[in-house]
Amino acid sequence: MITRSIPTWQAELAAAIRNPLELLAELELPADAPGVKLLDASIQFPLRVPRSFVRRMRKADPQDPLLRQVLPLDDEQRAVPDYGTDPVGDLLAMRGAGVLHKYPGRVLLVTTGACAVHCRYCFRRHFPYGRARAQEDEWRQALDYIARDEGIREVILSGGDPLCLVDEKLAPLATRLAALKHVQRLRIHTRLPIVLPSRVNTALLSWLTATRLRVVVVVHVNHPNELDDEVGTALARFAAHGLTLLNQAVLLREVNNNVDTLAALSESLFSAGVLPYYLHQLDRVYGAAHFAVEDGEAVGLVEALRKRLPGYLVPRLVKEVPGKASKVPLLA
Ligand SMILES: *Cc1c(COP(=O)(O)O)cnc(C)c1O
Ligand code: SF4
Repeated sequence: MITRSIPTWQAELAAAIRNPLELLAELELPADAPGVKLLDASIQFPLRVPRSFVRRMRKADPQDPLLRQVLPLDDEQRAVPDYGTDPVGDLLAMRGAGVLHKYPGRVLLVTTGACAVHCRYCFRRHFPYGRARAQEDEWRQALDYIARDEGIREVILSGGDPLCLVDEKLAPLATRLAALKHVQRLRIHTRLPIVLPSRVNTALLSWLTATRLRVVVVVHVNHPNELDDEVGTALARFAAHGLTLLNQAVLLREVNNNVDTLAALSESLFSAGVLPYYLHQLDRVYGAAHFAVEDGEAVGLVEALRKRLPGYLVPRLVKEVPGKASKVPLLA
């Protein structure tokens, strides 16, 4: 009998937990555990977390740093001044279907609105993907835009999470980008290798290594507990294929705002072949204010990291300020 085989990662993605009560039960936590006041389930950015990521959470600990990143809490409903739905001015930087061109030399392509995990602090949690996404049939428009600007050296696939798209869609996009002679680098911003490591499969590696473009994979890890053996193996596959691996993290209160955690994160990343790139100050997105860390505290943390770690393991502390020509460093 012939059965149509579905890649493991897609089956795992489909089986992600979407019900907060199921997640709490899985973690042996009562629904009224201290510090857990759930948000109404009918929200516009619902819970979503792959089981592989849940397995890395500590049982019966409502303060678990991985759980805090994904559990919709009542805190999100607090209205806080200066927190809005488009905190980084993305809608102003849109250049037609799915192209965000804010910084010279590189453009960002919003390839999909989907993510494998819904991070509560995400600055795109209110992004109107239906309008902004470069759907497959619209890639022509995005590619035309890139073709017209010979100053563009690098194309960043972002989203959402570009690796939520199947390889049958991504490989042809890479081919079309590589056909534009002035494009040198392809950067992929993704959290899938972390939250769903089975995504790093042979099909993905084969188009990533076949392209003439130099490929940079920027993953997103906020806490060392996110890196287990399974993730380590996935990252090692990228490294074994010669891809450059960087990490960006977001500084999050009660998740990673202490020196020991940040130092352990850098060390674990390096062991997995990944260099820390950015540590982002939270974008002021509505619903995320309870994660905010003051600039002064953030600077202090990175100064303390510098005293402990080699320079190459200290991420650049940056903030996104709408209208600036690059991310803004908070520390010289
Ligand atoms: C962050 C970002 C980039 C990449 O910036 P780098 O400093 O090169 O990492 C590019 N385009 C947009 C729209 C961005 O938000
Ligand atoms: S994976 Fe990235 S884009 Fe998706 S919800 Fe998390 S932070 Fe946002």
